[in-house]
Formats: sequence, structure tokens, C-alpha cells
Amino acid sequence: MIIYKFGGVSVKDAAAIRNVCEIIRKVRRPLTVVVSAIGQTTNTLEKVVEAHYRGNDEVLNLVEEIRAFHYALIEDLFGVVTLGMKRDVDRIFGELESHLEKIAGESFEFEYDQIIGIGELLSSRILSAYLKRIGQKNKWVDIRKCLKSDRTYRDANINWDYSQRLVKRNLKDEPDTLYITQGFIASDEEGYTTSLGREGSDYTASILAYLVGAEKMVIWKDVLGILNADPDYFDNTVKLDLIPYQEAIELSYYGARVIHPKTIKPLQAKLIPLWVKSFQEPEKEGTLIAGGDELLPRLPNYIVKKRQVLLTLKPLNFSFIGEKDLFFVFSLLTKYRIKLNFSQNTALSFAFCVDGSARNLEDLVRELELSFEVLKNDRLELITIRHYQPETLQEINQKHRVLIEQKNYNTAIYLVS
Ligand code: ASP
Ligand code: MG
Repeated sequence: MIIYKFGGVSVKDAAAIRNVCEIIRKVRRPLTVVVSAIGQTTNTLEKVVEAHYRGNDEVLNLVEEIRAFHYALIEDLFGVVTLGMKRDVDRIFGELESHLEKIAGESFEFEYDQIIGIGELLSSRILSAYLKRIGQKNKWVDIRKCLKSDRTYRDANINWDYSQRLVKRNLKDEPDTLYITQGFIASDEEGYTTSLGREGSDYTASILAYLVGAEKMVIWKDVLGILNADPDYFDNTVKLDLIPYQEAIELSYYGARVIHPKTIKPLQAKLIPLWVKSFQEPEKEGTLIAGGDELLPRLPNYIVKKRQVLLTLKPLNFSFIGEKDLFFVFSLLTKYRIKLNFSQNTALSFAFCVDGSARNLEDLVRELELSFEVLKNDRLELITIRHYQPETLQEINQKHRVLIEQKNYNTAIYLVS
């Protein structure tokens, strides 16, 4: 079995979907296609979640916006909205509406997951129907019937054994089969939807690759492969040809936006090669992530995390920062589910960086202020360079005001403003 994953940009409009279907048409079966929500749908759904959670009327307008957008796209793609298509799409909106009719419960995380996966259900339905239209027999699969997780809503952990049994039953490794399914979501034991974290569709594809023992996986993107830096921030980026699994894990851990950080490990466990290729130029090679230990070409890799907030904590009394303080800080980070991107401690202070967009950040700061003096520096950037060279470091120092610098033999991290 081959596993393909298409992201939201690759299916952003009718022309894009036609292009994706062309790519699918040409490849050998058995094939499982994992698709993300179309374009910005997940972002709009996040607004629906917020509005629903706060009991705000805006919910209806937002849902209408999503509905109108998808129906317009369907019309564009098919010429008309067929009855079958309408039935499938209305059923998905029915699922959303029946949840929205209920008053939101206490847990934001739970509410989020019941709403957020609608985008993937819609995109996969549309893709499946259009493939049928062009003569590509396929089966639409509700991934929630294949992937079971715990109840850590918004960051669910897969139950591998349970999912293995379900996948065996639902994704048969038989010649000629083509499955179309959703990324990003799973379900808990009671059948409630769970999600794997933003941009989680890559991870879905790799979970499936692992469970079916795929021969390879391909992530289709709007870039030629994985570059040594984000072209939005750097000139002269170079495409990487080969990235060893271990290196890919490091890069995504530091925040390389190209692949979801959890994606690589399941593939590495079964030595399944991962290709990252361009859906605009599918004949080009792309980047291969596989076994080995040398990055090719061996160049410095830049990873930038924008909108970082640095919190510096100092004890309120005359004491030092001790293990108990650190334990307390980490337990608050866990409680508020805020990820620490960088940290540094001295005798008298503990400084750490988190995403400025982190939900609950204000609550965290408020609670920290009960025990520490808290200094806040915002609008910072965290630049990580793997395989740095002396010139690269000089360049960073020339271009930015460096607040903190941390270095080991092959990774340098700069907090800059
Ligand atoms: N649609 C989800 C998101 O935008 C999942 C994904 O794209 O991988 O986060
Ligand atoms: Mg997406």
C-alpha cells in the first residue's frame, strides 16, 4: 500500500482538486489518500469553536460562511450540485449542527474536537465524489472508525493496538483499492471525535503507513520538497535531497513548518520512506526522508519561530531559583497545555519562551505572578540553526539584536528581537 497526504492548499479550489485527482489517477493501487480541510476551513472552524464556547451568535454566520464556500466549490467542480453530493454534505453539516444545538460543556478541548474535524469530512467527501466522477473507483472511509485514541482532546494519543485491528478490517491491502479518508482526527472509545493537533494530517498519514506497513508515503506540498530554510524569511534557499529520519525529527522538533513533529517516528520504526513532493510539479524528485546519517546536501538549516514571548521569572524573596520552583513552573505549563520552546536558568532567574498565540497564556502569567516577579518580552523570534558554520552565526549577530544565545556542537539557538 502507498499512502498519500494532501494538505489544505493542494485542494484549495476546483482547479486544485482536479490537479490532485490527476496525480491520484496516475498512481498504482492499493493507495490510501489522506486529505486535510480545504484552504482556511480549519481556521474558520476554530472561530466557530470559540463562538460556540462563549455562547456567541456569530456561530450561525460562520457556519453559513463555511457552507456557502463549500457549495460554491462543489458547483465549480461538478457544474451542478448533484443530489448524492448534497446528501453527503448536508449529513456532515447535520453532525456539526446537532453538536452546536447543545450548550457548550465545561471543557473547551472537548468542544473543539467535536467541531474541528468537519473540514476534513467535507474535503474528503468532495474529493471522493470527484474521483468517482472521473472514473476512479474509490471508497470513502470515516477515519474515526479506524483510528482510536485516548481522550486528550486537541492532542490525542493513538491507541495503537486497537487501531491496528480496526485498520486491518477497514483498509484492506488488496489490488485496485483506493481509499479516501481524513487527516487530523480520530475518535475515543465512546466514539467522540478527537484531534491530533493543528497540522496533524501528516501524522495521520504516518500512523496509517505504520499500521498497514506501507511501502512508502508521500506528502504533497506547494514547495519542491523540504528546503534548508523557510523561503518566506530567507533568500537563496536550497532543496534538501535526503534527510535521515533522525535529522527530520530534530528539524520538526525545533519548529520546521514543513512536517508535523510526530510524523517521522512511526515511519522510522518500520523504515518506511517518506517523500515530500510538489503537487504543482509532481514529476520532480522532491525530498526523501529515510534511513542514513548524512543530510544531503550538508548545509546549515534555519528554523524560525515567530511571535515568541519570553517570560523571565525571579523569586519574590531573597532566595534562588530551585528545583521546586522549576517543578512548579512546569506543572503550570502542563496544566495550561502550553509548550515550552526554549529555556534558560541562572541562580536568580528562570527564563522561557512560549508561542505568543498560546491559548491560556494570560492565565499562566497571572498564576505565575502570585509566586514570582514576572518580566514579559514579546514579539521575539527564535532562530534555530542546525549544522551551523561560523559565517552563519556572524550573520545572525549582524542582522538581529540577540537576547540569548545557546549553542552545542551542531545546533545554535538565538532568541532575537
Ligand atoms: N486541517 C488541519 C489544520 O489545518 C489539519 C491539517 O491541515 O493537517 O490544522
Ligand atoms: Mg491545514
